[in-house]
Amino acid sequence: MREKLGQRKIKYQAELDMNFGREISEKYGGENLHQCIQCGTCSATCPMSLYMDYTPRRLVAMTREGFKDEVLKSFTIWLCASCYSCTVDCPKEIKITQLMYAFKQKAIEEGVYPKRFATPVLAREFFKNVRRWGRSNEGILLMNMFLKTNPFKLFKQSFLGMKLLWKGRMPLKIEKIKGMNELKPILDAVEK
Ligand code: SF4
Ligand code: SF4
Repeated sequence: MREKLGQRKIKYQAELDMNFGREISEKYGGENLHQCIQCGTCSATCPMSLYMDYTPRRLVAMTREGFKDEVLKSFTIWLCASCYSCTVDCPKEIKITQLMYAFKQKAIEEGVYPKRFATPVLAREFFKNVRRWGRSNEGILLMNMFLKTNPFKLFKQSFLGMKLLWKGRMPLKIEKIKGMNELKPILDAVEK
């Protein structure tokens, strides 16, 4: 059961997933997770932390303490711009950017990403395109992204889309690569 303290939710230990920190620390990038000293350098240097629901420092702490739901459902992991600033500055050499990738991968695997948030939808649709054709088709990618996030935006952007089509900058013709058989095992390995 949860109680609210202002806007903050109190979570009891029984609701936490204490294996989450271990699981993430076994992935590439999470090796030094438990050595974090909570200095906050990562949050201070992050250009996106202003817009994040949890700063990188908090995300690291929450991961160690088993706040799996909060971490995987956060917007933070999708707002990370992969600039590597936090990774370069961390005094404990924690690969925070890689951690963000690990969280994103897990959130997609478990289907807990924010469903109408453009970034995860775009990532998933991009991967689907590459699986089907070996490359991405920008027109279809954008159409599917808008349909699955905000269909009204599709209408708003239609004029720009027509202009791009007219200028040949956004082809709708689907081109499939030749080496699909060679690509498939690579994509299978990425998904594991
Ligand atoms: S910079 Fe590194 S040690 Fe400092 S809070 Fe961030 S992850 Fe932890
Ligand atoms: S890699 Fe992501 S979390 Fe790290 S500083 Fe850049 S935007 Fe922030």
